[in-house]
Amino acid sequence: MTEAPSKGLVLVVEDERPIADLVRMYLSRDGFGVHVEHDGTAGLAAARRVRPVACILDIALPGMEGTEIVRRMREDGDWTPVIFLTARDDEVDRIIGLEMGADDYVTKPFSPRELVTRVKALLRRAAGPQEGRVRTLGPVTLDPGRRQVTVDGRLLALTPTEFDLLGHLLGRPGRVFTREELLAGVWGYASHAGTRTVDVHVAQVRAKLGGAASLIRTVRGVGYTADA
Ligand code: CA
Repeated sequence: MTEAPSKGLVLVVEDERPIADLVRMYLSRDGFGVHVEHDGTAGLAAARRVRPVACILDIALPGMEGTEIVRRMREDGDWTPVIFLTARDDEVDRIIGLEMGADDYVTKPFSPRELVTRVKALLRRAAGPQEGRVRTLGPVTLDPGRRQVTVDGRLLALTPTEFDLLGHLLGRPGRVFTREELLAGVWGYASHAGTRTVDVHVAQVRAKLGGAASLIRTVRGVGYTADA
């Protein structure tokens, strides 16, 4: 079932119908078009067909898991922003372990209002102002205008969130950012959202940086910094 989008179409894949209905209601009320699927296989097909501006994916789904949907989307070169709905802490661990380029996650039970806020923050970032000078640190070059990052000339495929996180750190090399500062500065919402989101994304960016991963240094008990 698809409703006419005004702010763009969000794909929701969730097999628990009351949750899917609630998410649909809140997104529609906010002016988003919503396409809902209750099965992972149908969800991946919809992601390819309806060209959503963002996806909200449950992890445990019949047909195909939410994590597998994202893996296949990324394989196709589809970097549409994704928010996972997770039921348990070990699912968060899996998101980190798979380094699959999710942009955010919320843990059930969640506030639908909070979820809509995150979708909007995500879209703002993805379309966000692309200003600023080209930054180079060690082998890494970040070009805000083109939204491109290269390592020794090799182009990296980063999600909008990963790009903004790296841009934030490279903007002030040597400055130590707390997780709360990064949440506020990159995600645009306050620390109650859960600072583990930051750790998930740092892990993903490091994985993509490969040999240059040590550029992002963990400052124990504080947060993260970029230095060469
Ligand atoms: Ca489920």
